[in-house]
Amino acid sequence: MGALHELTAVEAWRLLERREISARELAGACLQRIEAVEPSVRALLTVDAEGALRQADTVDARRARGEALPPVAGIPVVLKDNLCTEGMRTTAGSRILERFVPPYDATVVARLRAAGAVFPGKANLDEFAMGSSTENSAFQITRNPWDLERVPGGSSGGSAAAVAAQECPLAVGSDTGGSIRQPAALCGVVGLKPTYGLVSRYGLIAYASSLDQIGPMGWTVQDVALLLDAIAGHDPLDTTSLAGSARGEDVTGYLEACREGVQGLRIGVPREYFGAGVTPAVAASVRAAADLLANLGAIVEECSLPTTDYALAAYYIIAPAECSSNLARYDGVKYGLRTRELAGHVGLMEKTRDEGFGAEVKQRIMVGTYALSHGYYDAYYRRAQQVRTLIRRDFETAFKRFDVLLTPTSPDVAFRIGERADPLAMKLADICTIPVNMAGLPAISVPCGFVDHLPVGLQVIGGALQERMLLRVAYTYEQATGWHRRRPVLPGT
Ligand code: GLN
Repeated sequence: MGALHELTAVEAWRLLERREISARELAGACLQRIEAVEPSVRALLTVDAEGALRQADTVDARRARGEALPPVAGIPVVLKDNLCTEGMRTTAGSRILERFVPPYDATVVARLRAAGAVFPGKANLDEFAMGSSTENSAFQITRNPWDLERVPGGSSGGSAAAVAAQECPLAVGSDTGGSIRQPAALCGVVGLKPTYGLVSRYGLIAYASSLDQIGPMGWTVQDVALLLDAIAGHDPLDTTSLAGSARGEDVTGYLEACREGVQGLRIGVPREYFGAGVTPAVAASVRAAADLLANLGAIVEECSLPTTDYALAAYYIIAPAECSSNLARYDGVKYGLRTRELAGHVGLMEKTRDEGFGAEVKQRIMVGTYALSHGYYDAYYRRAQQVRTLIRRDFETAFKRFDVLLTPTSPDVAFRIGERADPLAMKLADICTIPVNMAGLPAISVPCGFVDHLPVGLQVIGGALQERMLLRVAYTYEQATGWHRRRPVLPGT
């Protein structure tokens, strides 16, 4: 057995169950690792060593009493800092919430807490989850553990980097247009964006509510499944949460779904995802993955999703429109930052928002407000919604023929910090992931190779509530390759 911080969640779970290690030892090892590598990686905005050790002790005591505990009990899970944690600062990466301490837990956090998960800290993100590199955080730039001069992706870049740097076996992220899958790809870990409505959004600081979804990240497909088991399920506090009947009877069982075998599965490879803008070496890795799955017995065929090209433009109307409405609540009155200037009540709101929001967030609020305003609504917002319907139909048609679709997760490997100052160049990072959110579908990113020394991600997209199918395909692929066993070497370790 190597050092404890090197364990996957499934390995740690087995050792904890057999009482060969304690939750306290595991939490201690992760906290030590955090101390050693955080100065170079900077994945976390808050570290709560004391709280984590206390949670670990509670789990050890529960186990000692003979309580049957779920697999996630005693496993350190880093939370993206847009998930509300009772009594623990939650910033969303923004100055406007720099000192915000929520009075309640997000449902996902409450579920993990009840299950005995250990929370070592909160992960950095692009402000309000708007971005693809974590450079939009108001507080710090997180570095990619595979190359500290490069970004970890975003917006869940802190979550992905924390896993990749082995600060914790598991992390929770959120994904509005790719924010779990793209950083997972760039950091060489696994990330899953569930079907819209599978995981409760209650207590997630909203960016674009019709697209936002919380999901798991980890080194292996099984680890991600283990975490999904702990967070999925109906929640009456989220009105868009799927009811039990819509989900089918078999709501969890994601870990058991990680079985090998793709014999006879029909896999589509949509050609629009391999066009200009996709680095040839990335496209080649993904095509090689498709070949491998064909060798394992899957039926792989090229297909087309013709409206893909319009997804990015439509997303950048819909997401800002929803963000302009969601972020209206940060006005300096109820909570969060309040300007120190005396400026009257309108001035107070203006000054607070001017001081509290970063440039990207302001730009999106303005674009969104414009797109929703009288006279422009039909020209922009309505048309974007119509495009959204077409995108959904494209997928529906494809899933009549195929069980899953394979694409690159990101058109490129991790780029250099500061390299994408042009906002359009940055937005192109999500070209392969955004259509999936627009259609509310689940997708997983799993490592499928390296270009130079940088990881490449394979995206597997499924029909609504086909998470088990995704896990099976991803697990089969992972077991047939060895990418998930490579680890970056960090300075000072
Ligand atoms: N990069 C995309 C955006 O900036 C997606 C972000 C996300 O998924 N939260 O909107």
